Amino acid sequence: MRPAPVDLRQRLQSELDTLLARHDTIDAHLHNADRDVPGDWTDRAQLFENDTVLEALDGRTRARIVQIRLALERLGDPAWGRCVRCSEPIPPARLAALPTTMVCKSCAEAVGQ
Ligand SMILES: [Zn+2]
Repeated sequence: MRPAPVDLRQRLQSELDTLLARHDTIDAHLHNADRDVPGDWTDRAQLFENDTVLEALDGRTRARIVQIRLALERLGDPAWGRCVRCSEPIPPARLAALPTTMVCKSCAEAVGQ
């Protein structure tokens, strides 16, 4: 088993904290916790249009949160650092650049990621 570097765990944890805070902010905003909904219809239309952008951003944020949580779980696993497709070790440089990746470069290319 190749132990995961401590700094990688810290990096993932700190990105996770940032994303969770962002998710909370977006969530509160979308549920009108921090704003007044305008009475004017065109202003409301603009507001809801902005909401769809925020919802898309929140969707990406939540997807990333899931990726990071999975990566943090895998860090403690003996299989960490090995490609889930071909079982070859993933080079440390790739893991440092893409700490949530589960596949090596050639497998990533093979599956079009
Ligand atoms: Zn592979």
